[in-house]
Amino acid sequence: MIIEHKKGVSNTSQIPNRNFPYFAPAFDSGMKKTKVLLIGAGGQLGSELTQGLWKIYGQENIIASDIKDAQGILKEGPYEKFDVMQRDKLFELIKKNEITQIYHLAALLSATGEKDPRWAWKLNMESLLFVLEAAQELKLHKVYWPSSIAAFGPTTPKQNTPQDTIMDPSTVYGITKLAGELWCEYYFRRYGVDVRSLRYPGLIGYKTPPGGGTTDYAVDIYFKALKEKKYECFLAADTYLPMMYMDDAVKATIDLMEAPAEKVKVRTSYNIGAMSFCPAQVAATIKKHIPDFSITYKPDFRQAIADSWPKSIDDSAARADWGWKNKFGLEEMTEDILKNLESEPQFLIS
Ligand code: NAD
Repeated sequence: MIIEHKKGVSNTSQIPNRNFPYFAPAFDSGMKKTKVLLIGAGGQLGSELTQGLWKIYGQENIIASDIKDAQGILKEGPYEKFDVMQRDKLFELIKKNEITQIYHLAALLSATGEKDPRWAWKLNMESLLFVLEAAQELKLHKVYWPSSIAAFGPTTPKQNTPQDTIMDPSTVYGITKLAGELWCEYYFRRYGVDVRSLRYPGLIGYKTPPGGGTTDYAVDIYFKALKEKKYECFLAADTYLPMMYMDDAVKATIDLMEAPAEKVKVRTSYNIGAMSFCPAQVAATIKKHIPDFSITYKPDFRQAIADSWPKSIDDSAARADWGWKNKFGLEEMTEDILKNLESEPQFLIS
């Protein structure tokens, strides 16, 4: 049987195994001016990533989009209110704005996904496939799609979780992330779509409320510490999880997307890490700044999710392949968040 391949994959015998060598992406990224569509821009990561991209490509070249109306700083740049489940509208937006790159962040997260697993599967999977199809058909230069430590599961090695290891996610969110990683690799191998991905740990920022994840406590705790000087945590005191400050998450994402394609050797998703801590450690760090802060613990259904995830991450592949290096640890992050929340109290009100 003769199989016709797109430019970038010459024949089936060359379709590489998981340690495949790089081959040239099908679409020449030098031909068009960079125009980015960011889907899910209204979320915790999206609003900060939009601002990071403004600095690199210019505000006018970043189309932020979300199913919600534009809020806060996003009102200052180009914005499209749009539901990513509308495939035709996605294609139309790409053509109308001459988009060359997509960052697809819209998803139902781990805790919210467990409340409606069928919808989590549909939203997270179909939207990714729409984006990958658009990238292939409309010849986009690059696609970014985030995975998560939720793609790992209870039998994954918990300490220093390797890049390649057992992946048996126990949440529907994690299942969509693992399947999504494989779809990304498939589109890269089969069609030469330059799609890149990171397995984020828990992301901690203070500018936008978190979106229903299991690591949200590490955001809420700072708000409650400043407002009420106490916090009731939904995870147990000694629950270690890998975490990352939002500034580092934005940097990692942009570093990966700016790396020369031949350096991006992992086409499922890269392990990425910065720090690992438990609620008791965050509380102790906050107490250095707010001595009368106190914490209590009342674990809920999210404890079981947290217990199924890695405690720390081996991100040596990201460090070796494209030079990943984090800036923030727990002490630096705590100091930065408390300082910023005190000087910019508008974030405390939201
Ligand atoms: P979030 O929930 O804060 O933001 C998601 C955004 O997507 C929301 O603004 C929402 O309105 C939008 N959205 C939902 N449905 C949509 C639709 N049909 N069409 C258009 N927009 C829609 O999530 P986040 O924390 O910013 O996470 C962004 C991405 O990063 C997600 O893919 C998530 O899985 C991944 N991630 C996040 C974390 C974390 O700790 N926040 C960790 C690992 C991975």
